[in-house]
Amino acid sequence: MAPLDPHSFTDSTHTLTTHIALSLYFDFPSATIHGAALFTLSSPHSGPLCLDTRSLSIHRVLSPSTLSPLPYSLSPFCDPIKGTHLSLSLPNDAALSSFLITFSTSPSSSALQWLSPPQTFNKKHPFVYTQCQSIHARSVFPCQDTPAARIRYSALLNVPRELSAVMSARHVDRRLPVSGEGYSNLLPNGFNSLWCSETRVVEEFDMNQPIPPYLFAFAVGELGFREVGPRTRVYSEAADGVLEAAAKEFAGTEDMIRQGEKLFGDYEWERFDLLVLPPSFPYGGMENPRMVFLTPTVIKGDASGAQVVAHELAHSWTGNLITNKNNEHFWLNEGFTTYAERRIVEAVQGEDRAVLSIGIGWRGLNDEIKRFQDNLEFTKLKTNQEGVDPDTFYSQVPYEKGFQFLWCIERQIGRPAFDEFLKKYIATFKFKSIDTETFLDFLKANAPGIEKEIDLVLWTEGTGIPPDAYEPVSNLYTKIVSLANEFKLGRMPREDEVADWQGQEWELYLENLPKVVEASQVFALDARYRLSESNDYEVKVAFLQLAILSKCRDFYGEVEKTLKEVGRMKYLRPLYTALVQGIGKEEEKILAKRVFAEARDCYHPIAQGVVESIFAKHL
Ligand SMILES: [Zn+2]
Repeated sequence: MAPLDPHSFTDSTHTLTTHIALSLYFDFPSATIHGAALFTLSSPHSGPLCLDTRSLSIHRVLSPSTLSPLPYSLSPFCDPIKGTHLSLSLPNDAALSSFLITFSTSPSSSALQWLSPPQTFNKKHPFVYTQCQSIHARSVFPCQDTPAARIRYSALLNVPRELSAVMSARHVDRRLPVSGEGYSNLLPNGFNSLWCSETRVVEEFDMNQPIPPYLFAFAVGELGFREVGPRTRVYSEAADGVLEAAAKEFAGTEDMIRQGEKLFGDYEWERFDLLVLPPSFPYGGMENPRMVFLTPTVIKGDASGAQVVAHELAHSWTGNLITNKNNEHFWLNEGFTTYAERRIVEAVQGEDRAVLSIGIGWRGLNDEIKRFQDNLEFTKLKTNQEGVDPDTFYSQVPYEKGFQFLWCIERQIGRPAFDEFLKKYIATFKFKSIDTETFLDFLKANAPGIEKEIDLVLWTEGTGIPPDAYEPVSNLYTKIVSLANEFKLGRMPREDEVADWQGQEWELYLENLPKVVEASQVFALDARYRLSESNDYEVKVAFLQLAILSKCRDFYGEVEKTLKEVGRMKYLRPLYTALVQGIGKEEEKILAKRVFAEARDCYHPIAQGVVESIFAKHL
């Protein structure tokens, strides 16, 4: 037994799955999916085979040709991070290259959020969507849930007729169900007979490019769409105004794809569609191939919403094409993507915007290094994640320190050479999963002598921020930082100084203020600029965080409203932490606990877990 990945039961000596054919029956009233999955292995295998599961009921494991049962066992205990280990035993006398499993998800599946009609925009129909990164695909179907194992898949989604489905895959057809198709006659609990009910429809998908399991994704609800480019549609619930606002916000997407192709090579995924989810979506965006998932908070009518799309688009080359082998090398995914995102932003929105984004990232990185001062392991690029829950230790470090490392290499070898290097790197490793050592070997081979100029070991294995990291310089960035420094001396920015500021300028300004200021200063700032009521959540949350830490209780009503409106972890994490961290804050702690109890059901299970871990640490 030699594990391949600290977050998976997959054994490095076992054969990997190359294709999964799924038939999924969505039972909204019980928030359950009943499924059949046909697994194809890269070569015939006999003996034990380990799969990951979490909160799944396994009904049967069968040989697909004879439908005879195959022995299996589930570990008696559920590992709090990895879940439950499903061990199959494939026959020793006749090695199998495929097997079949029937199973059901549970309402507490960590990847799935089931929304009742009142929790959606249109209030009429239920909605369900996945968030599988980092290790949640195993709560939707059994799998070798490690990015080292890339799979192709096909899927039949059996859903109520009034709903439709999207996936991180090519849409093949929407049609009437066919009796017995896709082993649906083996589904449990009578759901096989409901498969062909006249109230149901089948949405058929096919994904013929190999992806790591964390990029498996679907959403089912009352969906509508608008065309915004030759290979881009924006989808969302078919509710008043949402689609129109989204189509307007993302009108420049094709321009960004073309810039990306110029910089990094052909766009390999054919479609680049966008799905705007309900406000409970826990991330800003999720780079599901062909169908990026987005929080509605990115629709704000300025350049920064497009930057989230630029980031998810950049993943089409870095992360989705070249994937980290396991989460210990996550910086290869997010560091490269942050770098690529800023190159796209620079090309589309200009250098000043890109520098502003680097500046916000630099602030964020410095804050994270402080956050982990008692746990320096998480300030490294390459981390040891044995026994570590990736959701709990999710941070900006792989993004921003990874960005700084690549930016440092760019400065050293020059941009033209680095651009060539990137194209070659992507072409060499596309559709592969690699580790930090593979990247470093490739770097040293293609930029001879680089290790004499840059301390590659310090960057990838050292803690904190290396001395050759770089705070960006631009007139706009410098001006904002100096205005923030003046605030510390009691001077508020004048109206003419902030007249053309967008959300990002305010975000950078607020992030450069001291964590705690005089309450009177907080009130004065809000009286003049109404930041507590900003439509831009980045600005609003940065301001409310300052208000909480400065004990300005007048703003707690707005804090509560915000925590109940959105489920994006980027906002929940700082607000809940500001409320419960530190001593002598009984009122704040009571508020945090009450608001969480009332808002919990509106958060995705991953976000619920993150808030619970903040409480466990501080309460
Ligand atoms: Zn990303």
